[in-house]
Amino acid sequence: MAEIVLTADRTMMSDYHGREFLGFGATSPAVGVPEFIFSWLFFPKMKGLNGVAPQAPYGLRKIEAKLMEDGFDVVTIPPHSIGKYTDDMKVMLITGHDYLGLGPPSTTFASLLKKEPMNAVSFKRFMTSPDMRKAKKNGVRVIVGGPGTWQFKVRESYLEKFGIDCVVEGEAENVISNLVKRALEGEELPKFVNGDDYYPTVDEIPEIKNPSINGLVEIGRGCPKGCSFCSVTRKPIRWYPLEKIRREIEVNVRSGIKVGILHSDDVFLYGSKSFIPNENKIFDLISLASSHYSKLALSHVSLASVVYLKNLMPVLADTILSSQPFWGAEVGIETGSVRLAEIIMKNKARPFDVSRWPELVGEAFGIMHDCRMIPAATLIVGLPEETEEDILKTIELVENLRDYRSLIVPLFFVPLGLLKKNDWFLARDIREEHIELLKICLKHDMRWAKDITREYFDGMWYSPILKMGFKLFFRGVERLFRKYGIPVQ
Ligand code: SF4
Repeated sequence: MAEIVLTADRTMMSDYHGREFLGFGATSPAVGVPEFIFSWLFFPKMKGLNGVAPQAPYGLRKIEAKLMEDGFDVVTIPPHSIGKYTDDMKVMLITGHDYLGLGPPSTTFASLLKKEPMNAVSFKRFMTSPDMRKAKKNGVRVIVGGPGTWQFKVRESYLEKFGIDCVVEGEAENVISNLVKRALEGEELPKFVNGDDYYPTVDEIPEIKNPSINGLVEIGRGCPKGCSFCSVTRKPIRWYPLEKIRREIEVNVRSGIKVGILHSDDVFLYGSKSFIPNENKIFDLISLASSHYSKLALSHVSLASVVYLKNLMPVLADTILSSQPFWGAEVGIETGSVRLAEIIMKNKARPFDVSRWPELVGEAFGIMHDCRMIPAATLIVGLPEETEEDILKTIELVENLRDYRSLIVPLFFVPLGLLKKNDWFLARDIREEHIELLKICLKHDMRWAKDITREYFDGMWYSPILKMGFKLFFRGVERLFRKYGIPVQ
């Protein structure tokens, strides 16, 4: 048995029924239906193949690949298989997006619903499980990484509570092998290591050797826009050549994965060294991915890029929609106020002028609606410099987006990036205008979520059961909001 084990808690180690967006449900407390149904609906338990994970989070696969290339014997497992490895394991590596439920969606839902979000519940359960206790008793060294590591800096007491020896922030490729070697040799590990101080170049970033969850592959790293609230600070932009992307897609396809996701902070900036999308490179990228996957989604695109690509969007849609009813991507609206946009994200509208922000958002939503792309959009509520007028502008914008098939999620401000010295925004800080905004978003989302789920679950043998489960969930949520005097119809 391998001495080095890689894993994540159940909310991270799930294939979300092949519908990646469902994973977002883990940022909420279990509501509307009992917890076991909620968990099955949003993050079903991954079936292990003899204790090995058939798919794993992409970031974990990168670390697995790096360790394999450096000659370590590693295995990646679903969390419930840990008992099989406790006797031989020496080092455990864990990844997490939102370990303690402090990310913007989790904070919002937890604060409003006054209950711990499922991602935090699940991680705590895993770290305090009898198998995990046994592993720690046997002297296993625990190293955590992934986008959620900043949370251990603001809640350091959890390191001791959960027996975590070392936290690796940022990109870990150039530091992880040394840390694992030191852990195996019984050396003391530093509490925190910042991998971003040792950025890997494109050539130093290994290619995954085993399948990633829902066929997700990264196409590059970094974002040039530098929004002040964002934790993706100004990392150097590194786009992967198409050949590297193709080889990773083939790893997934060979294992039988038919769906895929292209991942970067703005997929439509692929291959560009500026704020201007490169149409040829995007077309080649989408053609490559569509020729391998029968269903394709994009992790994130910027609304400005969508508007810039308004002539290419129908061509991309034609390429992708030959075998799926719609495609999706996450987008950031953040605010409807030009004044606020100028302060916190003056480059987000590039290559257009930020003074056109609400107009650009409307135009992008229209283009996406016509091209059957469903955006899952975020808004930030309670930004440090936000005024009543700013909130009213955002309300006006959301009302204008009423007829576009989309989900719009208002998230409470969490101090990250350049704004990390500011205060958290919590339910106690809510003003009347915020409540109005939340209600409008809720109505919008309930309307379109019902519409989207009619087709979203097609193509699985248990689609009818899943659809029924979500029907019950929507009813439960509506009941809950009515209880608080919030009509959702
Ligand atoms: S919010 Fe999006 S556009 Fe802005 S810096 Fe972060 S990743 Fe880039």
